[in-house]
Amino acid sequence: MFTQTIEAVGICKTPYQQKFGIPRQPGLVEAKGQIRLTGEYNHLDFVQGIEQYSHLWLLFSFHENLEQGFKAKVRPPRLGGNEKIGVFATRSTFRPNGIGQSVVKLEGVRFESNQVIIDISGMDLVDGTPILDIKPYLPFSDSLPDAQAGMAQESPELCEIVFNDSCLTQLSQMYKGEELKRLIEQVLAQDPRPAYKKNKPDDKQYFITLDKFNIGWQVIEQCIVVFSIELIKA
Ligand code: SAH
Repeated sequence: MFTQTIEAVGICKTPYQQKFGIPRQPGLVEAKGQIRLTGEYNHLDFVQGIEQYSHLWLLFSFHENLEQGFKAKVRPPRLGGNEKIGVFATRSTFRPNGIGQSVVKLEGVRFESNQVIIDISGMDLVDGTPILDIKPYLPFSDSLPDAQAGMAQESPELCEIVFNDSCLTQLSQMYKGEELKRLIEQVLAQDPRPAYKKNKPDDKQYFITLDKFNIGWQVIEQCIVVFSIELIKA
């Protein structure tokens, strides 16, 4: 049997501090992040010429799930979390080898304090995710508009987001408040709740951490209402 040892080439910094709330695919939320190259890969030689591409493929480790291993059959959220299908027929994070892949937008490359930083946006990765490889996205080959995707043909429906008055005031007085508001809106519009919770009465208060903020929200009549935004103390 073939085996190969893999070493990370970098670490991804993102606003997503925990798995709950991260979009289920890339490109759904415009959040900004960075790839910081590590070890012997932290050299501009490795990224020379990369600026000519608008998008990159990231291969990464689902490192937070590796310990839990994998199952041959999984319940994808798209099927309401009830039906099981083969793991290779899904983008499940519990898979043999635990490797994820995402297309992200390339925003730029910098070299600061001896650190190669690749600025990206649109990623669906948790903060600290090990990056295994980076490749340019090639539209002539990678973009297949006629491809069939069964139950996942369309992007998921978006939920309406409402902020209560105190959150709106808070955001309007905050440095980069508009940016944070857009991030919260786009993240919550995906309705991060487990599939079985949808279309049922649900009075639970949920919390997600985005950047340095803990966001409290609740579903009221099919609408997501943001009721608190708290700065997390270091
Ligand atoms: N686009 C990728 C990932 C899809 S699943 C692919 O198709 O391979 C996206 C989910 O992965 C996110 O919602 C988040 O919950 C989870 N995730 C992101 N980074 C992770 C990590 N480092 N370890 C485990 N799960 C992670």
